[in-house]
Amino acid sequence: MRSLQDRHSSVTVCPRCGANLAERTVKQGPRTGNKFLGCSSYPKCRFTLN
Ligand SMILES: [Zn+2]
Repeated sequence: MRSLQDRHSSVTVCPRCGANLAERTVKQGPRTGNKFLGCSSYPKCRFTLN
């Protein structure tokens, strides 16, 4: 099962809509500066991945 998780950690496609995920940085709030993956079709699709 561990190898399966490794594959998922490198996923760059949104599992909800199939669009690419883009790396973004939190610009406000308590987590400012943290990087996360957000769906490129935001705000249509609000999927995010930490
Ligand atoms: Zn999406």
